[in-house]
Amino acid sequence: MALAGDDRTYLVGLGSNVRHFRFGAPAEVLRAAVHALAQEPGITLVAASPIVASAPLGPSRRRYANAAAIVETALEPPALLARLQSMEARFGRRRRGQRWRARVLDLDIILWSGGPWASPGLVIPHPAFRHRAFVLAPAAAIAPTWRDPLSGLSLRQLRARLARPRPPAPLARPSARG
Ligand code: ATP
Ligand code: CA
Ligand code: CA
Repeated sequence: MALAGDDRTYLVGLGSNVRHFRFGAPAEVLRAAVHALAQEPGITLVAASPIVASAPLGPSRRRYANAAAIVETALEPPALLARLQSMEARFGRRRRGQRWRARVLDLDIILWSGGPWASPGLVIPHPAFRHRAFVLAPAAAIAPTWRDPLSGLSLRQLRARLARPRPPAPLARPSARG
C-alpha cells in the first residue's frame, strides 16, 4: 500500500477510433475506460474531462473520441505505463508495432508531477502533446494551470497558442490560387 505523501499526480490522455464489440462507439469506449481507470487498484481518479468526439469525416468515416484524466498513484512512470498498456490490451487493443493506426483504446502519459522524465520507451511530457488540440482541449478543461515543465506554459496557454490563427502571410507571397 502507498504511504501517504508518496503519491504522484499524472495527466493521462485517452483516445479511441474503433468501436468496441460491447461498449460501442469510441465515446462509449472512453466512458468505460475512465470507469475502468477509477477501478484500478492503487490508482485514484481525481478528475475526468468531458469526452470530445468528432463526427465521422472523410472516406473512412472513422469517428474519434478523446478525453483526459488526472490520477494519483504511488506508481513510478514506467509502472503506470505498464498498467495503462495492460488496460489497452484488456480493451482489445493489439499492438502490431505501428503507431497511429486504428485502435480501440490509447492511453498516453502526458504530464506528471515529477517534471521531465526519460527512460527506455517512455518520455514525459509526451513529446507531441503541445501540437495536439485533441489532447490540449480536454486536458486544459481539467487542469488549466498545470505547467509544461519544458516550455513553462500552462495547459490553458498551450491550448490558446494552438487555437490562435497563424500570422498573416507576407503581402508579396504568391498565392497558390494564382
Ligand atoms: P503517439 O505517442 O504519437 O501518440 P501512439 O500513442 O499511437 O502515438 P503507441 O503505438 O500507442 O503510439 O505507443 C508507442 C510507444 O510510445 C509505446 O510503446 C511507449 O513505449 C512509447 N511512449 C513513449 N512515451 C510515452 C508516453 N508519455 N505515454 C505513452 N507511451 C509512450
Ligand atoms: Ca497517442
Ligand atoms: Ca500510445
